[in-house]
Amino acid sequence: MSNHTSMQVKLIDFAAAPLEKLYAAFRTCYSSETPIEIWEKIEARKISHEKIREFIGERLKTGHSSPLEQVVFWFAIANVSRSLSHQFVRHRVGISFEQQSQRYVKFKQDRLAFVMPESWRRAGLEDDFAALLDRTSELYARALKAGIPAEDARFVLPNAAPTNFHVMVNFAELLHICDVRLCVRAQWEIRRMVAMMRAEVKRVLPEVALFLQPKCGENRMGYCDESLEDWQKCPIGRVRPHKAALFELHDRYGSRKAQALGDAEYRAVEEKELL
Ligand SMILES: Cc1cc2nc3c(=O)[nH]c(=O)nc-3n(C[C@H](O)[C@H](O)[C@H](O)COP(=O)(O)OP(=O)(O)OC[C@H]3O[C@@H](n4cnc5c(N)ncnc54)[C@H](O)[C@@H]3O)c2cc1C
Repeated sequence: MSNHTSMQVKLIDFAAAPLEKLYAAFRTCYSSETPIEIWEKIEARKISHEKIREFIGERLKTGHSSPLEQVVFWFAIANVSRSLSHQFVRHRVGISFEQQSQRYVKFKQDRLAFVMPESWRRAGLEDDFAALLDRTSELYARALKAGIPAEDARFVLPNAAPTNFHVMVNFAELLHICDVRLCVRAQWEIRRMVAMMRAEVKRVLPEVALFLQPKCGENRMGYCDESLEDWQKCPIGRVRPHKAALFELHDRYGSRKAQALGDAEYRAVEEKELL
């Protein structure tokens, strides 16, 4: 009998009026009006929802990304593996994690729960996987019984051990996480989790979720910057171009060929008039 667990992802909350906050944050930068005046207009509905949406859409096409840090989401995530958690906590900017502790929590069930990749099932090794986990469960229980503290007993627990998160993340970082973790270069489990985070946002804020895409998506970078070999294997490669193809087009139809930057180009970007 399997003790395999199922991943759960729930959007707990988000900072109120995220679109309006984005609008006001961007507008403050480009307007002679004060942010208070901008908010008065928003609250008096002098700026239509459509205008807010359009303005944000245009700003999101640019590199002006700090206003996105002013919109925040909270997620509850359960039953992901310790393999995933190790990957997830590598994100360090604009995200805050609380993770279930293996020091303070003693796992007391007879058979420890675990996350098992489908590849083990496909390979016909599901029973061997479960048997090893059974032996691990038994040893872990014996260790606790022998007075070994949970923080030391956990040394026998595998990457398959499930864990839980309470996460706060801002929109800029969520976009970045989707860029790299919805890309098929990321592992299936974290890809699934981030896809579920996106689905949760889409449920309540479809206009915001529109931008939560892998980096090759039409609302993000728009092309694949991974290796040509990975792009060729990617199931969405057939609808998104690889960077090599863009350079090829540029060279074929552009007025000048793309070439390495030299002193003249560095001097050109130094010229203040260009800005
Ligand atoms: C497909 C894939 C394979 C990977 N393989 C490996 C691997 O083999 N080994 C391994 O160790 N890791 C691996 N990683 C993890 C990866 O190296 C990053 O640690 C992880 O994706 C976290 O992302 P980030 O660095 O963009 O941090 P985030 O905190 O998500 O960064 C957010 C943004 O801030 C920028 N930023 C963050 N910190 C700094 C800083 N100190 N200075 C300047 N800019 C900063 C980032 O560049 C990014 O633009 C892999 C990740 C992916 C997606």
